[in-house]
Amino acid sequence: MVKRAPAEILKTLEQAGYESYFVGGCVRDTLLGRPIHDWDITTAARPEAVMALFSHCVPTGIAHGTVTVLLEDTEAEVTTFRADGPYLDGRHPEGVTFVSSLEADLARRDFTVNAMAMDLRGALADPFGGQADLKGRILRAVGEPEQRFREDALRMLRALRFAAQLDFSLEAGTDAAIRRCHALTAALSAERVRDEVEKTLLSPRPGRVGEMAALGLLAAFGFPEGRDTGWLSRLPATAEVRWAGLCRTYPELDLAALRLPRRLSQDAMAAARLSWPEDRLGRKQLLSAHGETRGRIAAALAGDAESAEEILASGECLYLRDLAVSGADFPQLRGPEVGRHLQALLAHVLAHPGDNRREVLLRLA
Ligand code: ATP
Ligand code: MG
Repeated sequence: MVKRAPAEILKTLEQAGYESYFVGGCVRDTLLGRPIHDWDITTAARPEAVMALFSHCVPTGIAHGTVTVLLEDTEAEVTTFRADGPYLDGRHPEGVTFVSSLEADLARRDFTVNAMAMDLRGALADPFGGQADLKGRILRAVGEPEQRFREDALRMLRALRFAAQLDFSLEAGTDAAIRRCHALTAALSAERVRDEVEKTLLSPRPGRVGEMAALGLLAAFGFPEGRDTGWLSRLPATAEVRWAGLCRTYPELDLAALRLPRRLSQDAMAAARLSWPEDRLGRKQLLSAHGETRGRIAAALAGDAESAEEILASGECLYLRDLAVSGADFPQLRGPEVGRHLQALLAHVLAHPGDNRREVLLRLA
């Protein structure tokens, strides 16, 4: 189901005389009947020619031949047919060369199901058997798997990530190569690894992160092998809750080292260490002491997100800012005494919400 704007982009390129196709994830997901979230186009046009054809574009990766074209509410990544140069470091090609054939471009792609192209009329180019592997629900490296993983070790994590998202299994040779090459992931940047782990965590099969760890793919990023991650699929599929669940499974993880945004990593790591109390007062005290975000995560980890929502919606006082009195009500006290006083009143009000009235609190004080 091709949307109008991406089809317009392809048509404009074709009419200017450049062979052009949809490629990669959008073709795979179209054939699977899954929603498409980003559009990749591969074209014989050089980046300068693409830039000249569209009024709104961003040269996102000119060195790699990629221009982002914006049209209506869509953006598409338009990349010139290319082959990657030799990979010397297991992460980046030493330069890229533009090539003239679609097939050479498809050959550089990671898995057969990601190495198909489709033209405007829906005709498919599938030189590596991607359609058959889609039917068999198999991830198979394009070409010789070990060589492909030596070029870019991220492909091993991508294999497990796609397996989690699509519910596919790994072709035997691809799986065997991962078992031989797992240690190469140590050379990857934490950001690229984080993105694959997060996509896996947010998929219907987040437990496959445990498989990444069991294969040794995450050893360099602080994940030991052999933990049970199956329970993660029962958690709400939000980044903060699933990362916190991961920290509960792997308490030794340092999410900051995985380059998660600071706020997210701190909330997830702290919430993973909280246990959600059985009693309502205990829960209020936890929300009061650790804040809404961490309290909500702790409740979700306990499988009881609703109980936190009920308390937060009740309007009962949880924080100093909700207290019916403030420091200004105690001019006779100084500095730290004021804080201690207000904390004591807050502790009282948590247990007795009906007492959160100014005259009652002044009398109690
Ligand atoms: P999604 O966007 O759903 O995560 P995708 O298949 O579109 O999946 P992208 O990372 O957006 O994946 O990449 C687009 C295409 O580029 C892939 O389908 C694949 O053909 C190719 N590709 C991306 N990363 C690599 C890589 N590390 N090695 C080889 N080919 C890759
Ligand atoms: Mg994509």
